[in-house]
Amino acid sequence: MERSFAREVTLLAQGDGQVFHGEGIVAVTKALLQAGVSYVGGYQGSPVSQLLDVMVQAREYLDTLGVHVEACTNEASAAALLAASVNYPLRGAVTWKSIVGTNVASDALSNIASPGVQGGALIIVGEDYGEGSSVVQERTHAFAMKSSLCLLDPRPNLPHIVRIVEQAFPLSEAAATPVVLQLRIRACHLQGSFVCRDNVAPGTTPRAAAAYDPSRLSHPPFTFEHERLKVEERLPAARRFIEAHRINELFDGDVADVGIIVQGGVFNHLLAALGAAGFVDAQGASRIPILVLNATYPLVPQELVRFCAGKRAALVLEEGHPEFIEFELSTVLARSGSACAIRGKATMSNAGEYTTDRLVLGLTRFATEFAPQLATDVADAWRDEVDAARAQARALLGSSVPPRPPGFCIGCPERPVFSALKLIERDLGPRHVAADIGCHSFAMFEPFQIGNSITGYGLGLASAAAVAPVSAQRPLATVGDGGFWHNGFLSGVTSAIKNGADTVLLVFKNGYTSATGTQELVSTPPAARRGHAGGESTTGADHTIEDVLRGVGVGWLRTVHTYDVATVKRTLADAFTTNTPGLKVVVAEGECQLERQRRLRSAVAQANASGQRVVRVRYGIDPDVCSGDRACVRLSGCPSLTVAPARDPLRVDPVTTIDAGCVGCGLCGELAQTQALCPSFHRVEVIRAPGAWERFVAGVRAFATRAVLAA
Ligand code: SF4
Ligand code: SF4
Repeated sequence: MERSFAREVTLLAQGDGQVFHGEGIVAVTKALLQAGVSYVGGYQGSPVSQLLDVMVQAREYLDTLGVHVEACTNEASAAALLAASVNYPLRGAVTWKSIVGTNVASDALSNIASPGVQGGALIIVGEDYGEGSSVVQERTHAFAMKSSLCLLDPRPNLPHIVRIVEQAFPLSEAAATPVVLQLRIRACHLQGSFVCRDNVAPGTTPRAAAAYDPSRLSHPPFTFEHERLKVEERLPAARRFIEAHRINELFDGDVADVGIIVQGGVFNHLLAALGAAGFVDAQGASRIPILVLNATYPLVPQELVRFCAGKRAALVLEEGHPEFIEFELSTVLARSGSACAIRGKATMSNAGEYTTDRLVLGLTRFATEFAPQLATDVADAWRDEVDAARAQARALLGSSVPPRPPGFCIGCPERPVFSALKLIERDLGPRHVAADIGCHSFAMFEPFQIGNSITGYGLGLASAAAVAPVSAQRPLATVGDGGFWHNGFLSGVTSAIKNGADTVLLVFKNGYTSATGTQELVSTPPAARRGHAGGESTTGADHTIEDVLRGVGVGWLRTVHTYDVATVKRTLADAFTTNTPGLKVVVAEGECQLERQRRLRSAVAQANASGQRVVRVRYGIDPDVCSGDRACVRLSGCPSLTVAPARDPLRVDPVTTIDAGCVGCGLCGELAQTQALCPSFHRVEVIRAPGAWERFVAGVRAFATRAVLAA
């Protein structure tokens, strides 16, 4: 069972004239249907997960339109879907998180970009860049350049984004080139409205196989002709379309001898910065003319030359490194003989997100150098105010608020396994741990600090291959079930089997790709699958990871229940010390607590409403027994374990306590027993609507307790 997107599904069916209210990424999803796509696919990841989640849950409605939805097992298979648009005049869209997903998809992207497409092909990437990013600091722009793809980076405004999505398909068809729509986090989660149009049914019917056409094959010698077509026909056609359909926008200003050229995605921040700097007129419009590049590749030289004509200087606002737009603009202007000076990274900053304060600083420097008619006193005062607020916050927070690294959810089934690993480390010493992408990567932070490398999604085991032969201790590689199916099985397990790797693989089998929004996997138990909206499962079969591992010849294979810390510890210790050659695999099974609580919450609410008996387990700590050594906190790191003032006036240090967030996962009890931590932990059953006997027993206990306390 995944999170329900029932409301978003209803938004997709809105018709002509109805007003859509909602999030940017759902608006993009609706725009795809208005553009007449016949297929949609992808691999989930922030910040575009919802696009696919909503489409998967809207399957019933999409079936009525004739739109095929494919929940792909990785980004490479999603990119390969676009092959349908190479051979047939079908419009299609795929989505994933960039830059990581684009790395995985790049082989297929190169081979689709080479022959080009007949039907419009759109790739929607969530460009997870900046301070909130969870990926490496690279840019899709480089991929667009190397594969000659069109790259759109729309100004964050819902009606505008919808228009750009709809234009992306005819652009793709005019240029016979796949188009990438880059959506930043803020564009995806932007709330807004737009007036809908009717969805366009693609009218897909079974059709005859395409005739043999070597120009559609990405293979030499046909690729030599593809190269000529890209340079001489497709990119020029893309430029003509971008110019003719005014994809890029011009905002005029009265300080006409300078200008700003900005990536569309940065536009809203630029407006905020111009306002803060006082470089706006009475209506709040920029006094400096702005050219908004909603298409950042290919650039249209004549647009750039036109904008810069008669200007002393232009400031290029381009997030990320290297400065592709600035380089190209400099070349274009030099070739045209323009005298306009270009400022970019040197005035802004070489690295990092263009936040409002960074933009205000850059605008101030630019105005001081080239536009003295713009007074900078408002900008200077604004920056002084921000600096003062920062200093005050640092002073208030610096000493009293400890750093709070990201960590596992309360009751996460993966936490007990890392507790067990910490305990094993005490007995057997440290070993190399090749970590992987997924919730389990949080173990690299305190209190566990477990993990030596992260190489890519599903690549942990492969990354340990050259470490094992030089390690005194057998290395450990971790992977989640999401990573196992994404890449881990093929790149890690089969390679390890083929090479006889003496490594231990720990598979976290929680049932979903939890870190991206608990999407289902091929190994999600049938009972937990939602599949089509309405609750039917997409397949009744139970495909277990263990079956697959046995199938490729993993001989040493154990499945453990994650909360059984003693067994997990014993099994992992066996795996680390056994003389059995080859790959050893421990499958640690425990359902993602986030999903479990989602399910329980509605079941408990229903039971409470109907007056049924409900038992909820909680753990507690006796404040009179707790010694305050925090051994439990160091071993589990559960956020529900916190501190409270001691009741004993003779004790100075606080005691440890468990707050109301405890979901009763049992790890505290397990650790207290496994490690004989201390007797302060106790398990409590909170019973709603108890029976007569339970009330009687509770009454007797309360009476006896009062009597003992009074004695
Ligand atoms: S989402 Fe699930 S697997 Fe991930 S940290 Fe939370 S409980 Fe654990
Ligand atoms: S039992 Fe312990 S580890 Fe589990 S949720 Fe409660 S406080 Fe956290």
